[in-house]
Amino acid sequence: MIRQLSPRLLQSSSIARHILLVLVAAVLLCSAVVIGSTVSVLDTQLLERREQQLSAEVERLAQQFRSYIDEMVHDTAFLAGVPPIQGLMRSRRAGVGVGDSSTPPWRRNLQGIFKQMLAAKPMALQYRFIDVDGRELVRVDRYGPRDSVRAVAEEALQSKLHRDYVQVGLSLPKGAVWLSEIGLNREERQIMQPPHAVLRAVTGVYDDSGLLYGLLVVNHRVAGMFARIGSAAQDEFPHYITALNGEYLLHPDAAKAFRFEYGERSNIVDDLPQAADFLADSQRRLLLAVSQRHGDRQIYALQKVDYQTAEPAQQLVIAVSSAYRDALAVRNDLLKRLGLYVLALLLVLLAVVAALSQRIVAPLQAMRNTVLEKGQQTRAEDLPIHADAEVGELARAFSGLLAVLDVQRRALEREVGQRRRAQLELEKNLGKLAQANKELEQFAYIASHDLQEPLRTINSFIGMLEQRCGSVLDEQSQQFLEYMKQSASRMEMLIRGLLEYSRLDGVLELESVDCQALVADVCDDLASQISEKNAVVTYSGLPLLRGHALSLHMLFQNLIGNALKYSRDGVDPQIAISASQRDGEWLFSVTDNGIGICEQHRERVFYIFQRLHGRDEYSGSGIGLALCKKIVEQHGGRIWIKEGAGGGSCFCFTLLGEGNDQT
Ligand code: ADP
Repeated sequence: MIRQLSPRLLQSSSIARHILLVLVAAVLLCSAVVIGSTVSVLDTQLLERREQQLSAEVERLAQQFRSYIDEMVHDTAFLAGVPPIQGLMRSRRAGVGVGDSSTPPWRRNLQGIFKQMLAAKPMALQYRFIDVDGRELVRVDRYGPRDSVRAVAEEALQSKLHRDYVQVGLSLPKGAVWLSEIGLNREERQIMQPPHAVLRAVTGVYDDSGLLYGLLVVNHRVAGMFARIGSAAQDEFPHYITALNGEYLLHPDAAKAFRFEYGERSNIVDDLPQAADFLADSQRRLLLAVSQRHGDRQIYALQKVDYQTAEPAQQLVIAVSSAYRDALAVRNDLLKRLGLYVLALLLVLLAVVAALSQRIVAPLQAMRNTVLEKGQQTRAEDLPIHADAEVGELARAFSGLLAVLDVQRRALEREVGQRRRAQLELEKNLGKLAQANKELEQFAYIASHDLQEPLRTINSFIGMLEQRCGSVLDEQSQQFLEYMKQSASRMEMLIRGLLEYSRLDGVLELESVDCQALVADVCDDLASQISEKNAVVTYSGLPLLRGHALSLHMLFQNLIGNALKYSRDGVDPQIAISASQRDGEWLFSVTDNGIGICEQHRERVFYIFQRLHGRDEYSGSGIGLALCKKIVEQHGGRIWIKEGAGGGSCFCFTLLGEGNDQT
């Protein structure tokens, strides 16, 4: 099913794809919100928990260290009071020299106790009894690779008067045990090989009268103590011990410990910069901090530990660390699982969308295929009109629409049929009309042409009659003769006009016409009338266009001639001719300030023989404007009249202006 769905999901308009996208977005958004908030809470809790663990761990190690120190102090104090020491003191007080034969039993006893202590205390390295002059009286220590215990021979005993710990020990209050700083053991100021770190415990030894007699000095191997702390530490947390200045005394990498003894630096501040302030601040005991070390974030817990019972105080720092990512391991694990859950959810969604698509998209597609296949022939029964829910509703609505469309289509077809028939009828009538027009024009032409001949005859006979009988005719007959002459010449004028009008038929041969020059020619032809009427004719910017020069000459001559003819009495005619281009044609206007034409006659005057005035008012044949209309229409234009300046007339006409220019 998913395989069927995938092409649909890829189509941008697919409903399934939209549903899938919305659901995926919703799931991803919800997952992001839930996972984000869970992870943030979890992170905080995990880090808090890890910090608590580290604090508890560092506290535990500090306890361990303190208990070890307590044991050391206790042992030292105990040894200072053992009977052989008192015996040795008494025998030396009694004036018996060191080499005296009475001394050895007490010395041997003390050596025996020291040896037993070394056997019992694996961390102890050396027990010494030193007198107030700094001379070693008894010294038992471990030596060699197998840590054999030996009592050092009397001749090998040394004077330690100038050593720090002797000086401090001699000034100690009674009963106090002083602990040294931790450092590598030295002999004759040289670090002993192999090097091992020591911590000295020193306490005073007093005689019966309470006077300081000597010192008991115990050297402890710090390595052993650190090993004990290390074995107590949880393996997952690396642990460290540093001096109060931050120099490492114990580090998981042994090479980093005690570098200060060699004049080098290996300091916790370099790994955890926050430690600098902590070490410098005597009030702070615990530090929890995160540091970025070599691209690896670490959480540290540092605790200061006092280990000096006497003055001056002695402190060191115990630290444990944990990798940040280890602390958040649970979170990462959870994220992986949640990721899998989200993936599984998306797959379920895909399946749900596939099922939905099957239910919703498939019927829609089937419907589309039917409509594409059957087109307008689609019937209601071809569509899933009985389906449930929206699909069924859509099919029913669509089928209703189809029915309406069908009705409209039939009506449209009927109307188209009617119109086609009407069109044919019209074309037939137009053909008849054109034929009749042609015949009429031919008739007008023939008639006007043929009428000229009898008219000429009438004219010549009237002339002859006037010549021969003019003198004998009475006044009334002469008047009749005059009427006949006038009628004949008017008829001649009409026939000439009619001939001119009918000659305008046929297709005109177009040429390039410079209207500016053409109007100038017309004005030249009308020059006598213009000056007679004291008229002013203005024209400029008239275009160069394609037209029939003779016809256009006739057009302008009629319009300008009329403007001169129909001027107002006592008003000098003002005639303006202009042209402007609009929508691919030229609009001309010939405006005058004459008598004007009232609105109801503005169409009529373009019909042949239509005149608005009697012959006695204005001479004319009533053909001029009919000619103008014909010429304009032959050029593909229109002509109409508007009111001109000061009540005069404005004759407007258009001429096709394709490829024409203004001159
Ligand atoms: P006509 O020979 O009478 O001038 P036209 O066809 O030229 O014939 O004009 C028809 C009628 O239109 C005219 O009789 C006149 O009444 C009117 N007419 C034409 N031009 C003008 C004009 N410029 N001003 C006023 N009336 C005009």
